[in-house]
Amino acid sequence: MNTELSQRLAAVQAQIAAAAAAAGRSAADVQLIAVSKTHPPAVVAAAVAAGVTDLGENRVQEAHQKISALQTLRPRPRWHLIGHLQRNKAKLAVELFDLIHSVDSLRLAETLDRHARERDRRLPILLQINVSGEASKEGFWAPGGLKNSDAYSALLRDIEGILALPALEVRGLMTIAPIVAHPDEARPFFAALRELRDDLARRYPQATWRELSMGMSDDLAAAIAEGATMVRIGRAIFGERQAG
Ligand SMILES: *Cc1c(COP(=O)(O)O)cnc(C)c1O
Repeated sequence: MNTELSQRLAAVQAQIAAAAAAAGRSAADVQLIAVSKTHPPAVVAAAVAAGVTDLGENRVQEAHQKISALQTLRPRPRWHLIGHLQRNKAKLAVELFDLIHSVDSLRLAETLDRHARERDRRLPILLQINVSGEASKEGFWAPGGLKNSDAYSALLRDIEGILALPALEVRGLMTIAPIVAHPDEARPFFAALRELRDDLARRYPQATWRELSMGMSDDLAAAIAEGATMVRIGRAIFGERQAG
């Protein structure tokens, strides 16, 4: 048992509970995803022993090694892909992950759909949206969210293509907020993602659109205030990332 990790995890869970209460929401509606990238399998096993049910990784290759090393781990955790996915890794990603948060193009969605059909599975996905307009960010381009009608029209066409893919199950949206001096400054970006989600849910009721994957170690309370249903927390649970 790793005491420091357990204490950090408890502190994060308390932060989630407090942020949910402050927003008049139930903490049970916010899923904690512990982001284990750069940390070895033994640390992941300790996190699961401490009560973590959901793990996030941003690289397919690294996740593959970890998931293989932890095949006998019980209870079996759910694995989330939160980093950019190249189409040549899509087949492996379909084998490894329970939910892919980082679908950022129609072409990638089509490739995932093909591999999911070959495996005879339905694959839950989230659509990653770049609501900040930073050039360095992945995601469908929708700076300003609903207010940017040209970008939004292009996004809607791609989304209609994705919703027509039989093996994919769209569950909602994901974003990464810009790095800001004070976490409250991230709130407009989280709000923009929620507004997009609400509009998409009205337009396309055939998908559930329940999930809003947003909020990391430094801005989780702001994200929960704006409706996050999944927060992706790395450093606050595992400490600083390992080099390499
Ligand atoms: C690394 C990462 C996180 C976790 O970030 P922390 O600041 O360590 O909590 C969340 N989301 C994505 C997409 C990441 O790559």
